[in-house]
Amino acid sequence: MAKTESVALIEKLIAFETISMTPNLDLIEFVRGYLEKMGVRSELVFSEDRQQANLYATVGPDDTPGVMLSGHSDVVPVKGQAWDSDPFKVRESDGRLYGRGTCDMKSFIAVVLAHVPLMLERGLKTPVHLAFSYDEEIGCVGVRRLIAMLKDLPVRPAMCVVGEPTGMKVIVAHKGKRALRVRARGLECHSSLPTAGVNAIDYAAELIGFIRTLAGRAAEQGPFDPEFEVAYTTLHTGTVRGGTALNIVPKDCAFEFEIRNLPDEDPEALVDEIKEYARERLEPEMQAVDPAAGFDFEDLSGYPGLDTDPGAEVVRFVQSLAGANDHGKMAFGTEAGLFHRRVDVPTVVCGPGFIEQAHKPNEFIALAQVALCETFMERLIDRLSA
Ligand SMILES: [Zn+2]
Repeated sequence: MAKTESVALIEKLIAFETISMTPNLDLIEFVRGYLEKMGVRSELVFSEDRQQANLYATVGPDDTPGVMLSGHSDVVPVKGQAWDSDPFKVRESDGRLYGRGTCDMKSFIAVVLAHVPLMLERGLKTPVHLAFSYDEEIGCVGVRRLIAMLKDLPVRPAMCVVGEPTGMKVIVAHKGKRALRVRARGLECHSSLPTAGVNAIDYAAELIGFIRTLAGRAAEQGPFDPEFEVAYTTLHTGTVRGGTALNIVPKDCAFEFEIRNLPDEDPEALVDEIKEYARERLEPEMQAVDPAAGFDFEDLSGYPGLDTDPGAEVVRFVQSLAGANDHGKMAFGTEAGLFHRRVDVPTVVCGPGFIEQAHKPNEFIALAQVALCETFMERLIDRLSA
C-alpha cells in the first residue's frame, strides 16, 4: 500500500496546473523549498522568458557519478475533456488516484521526493541526481537547456532512469520523432480558369500522397524490429488546412506530418527524400505557371530514439530494482533518447502507471503502482547506501 507521504506529495504536485507552455515556477519553487529544508541545494535552469525552469539537485556526495531520476513537470491540457471531477484536485476512489498528471508523470516525481528523507537518513555513498524538466509534452523542449548544463558538469550522472509510465517495466528502447510543417504556395485565380493559377491544395495533396507512399514502403520493406508493437518506422500527416472558397483556386495550403523512426534509422534521410520530391517533381510544374510558387518546410519538433543495449549495466541494475528480468521496447517518446545520445548517459525508462491511462479525461494511477515505485526506491536506496 502506498505511503501517506507519497500520496500527500502527489496531491500537492497535481494541484499545480503546470500545463505545457505555461509557467511551472510555482511547482519548481515548491520542490526547491522542500529540498532546501533538508539541506539539499537545487540548481534551476530557466527558459528564455524565465517563466519556466528545470530543476537539478544531487542528494549525497556531489563528486561521484550517481543515478539520475528524471521526470517532466508539465502535463497535457484538460480543455475539451469530460472529467468527472476537478482534474487538478486528486480524487481517490477504488484504489486509484484520479487527476491530470497522476499517471504522466507527477506520481513518479512525488515518490522520488517522498524518499529524499530516507536517502539522507541512510547516507548515500553513490548519489541520486534529481532532474525535473518542463515542456516535455510538446517535444522534449525544456530538457534541452538542462542537457546543455549537464554537459558542462565536472561529474556527469553514471546512469539515468526516466520515470514515465511503463507499469514499472524496464524499457530499453523507444522510437524517435521528427515533426514538420509544410506550406504550399500557389497562385490564386477564378476557378473557371484554373490553368491560370497554381492550386496549392492539389500540390500539397500530391506531397501528402508521396509521404503515404514512403509509409507504405517502410511497412513493406522495413527495416523491422519485432520488439516494437509497430515494428517499422511510420509516417503520417496529422493536419491540413487550405483554401478560402470553392470558386477560388487556393493559393495556400499547410499541413503537418511526422516520422516515428526506429531508433537506429535516420529520419533525416526520409525528410530529404520528401524535400527532394517537392523540389524536383512538384515545384517545376508549379513554377511554370508562377515562379513564386513552391513549398516551404518548417521544423516543428523532434527527439532521438532510445536504443540501450539490453545487456548494459543500467538495464541489469534497474531490473534488479524493479524485480524484473525482462525488458521491453515502446512506441511513445521520452527524454531518455536525449540523455542517452546527447549526454552519453546510459538510460532506461521505468515508472509507475500505464501510458493507456495518460492524456485522457479521468487520468489515474493505481495505488498499487505507487507502492511498486516505492519498493523500487527503497531498493535503490539500499543499493546506493551499501
Ligand atoms: Zn510523460
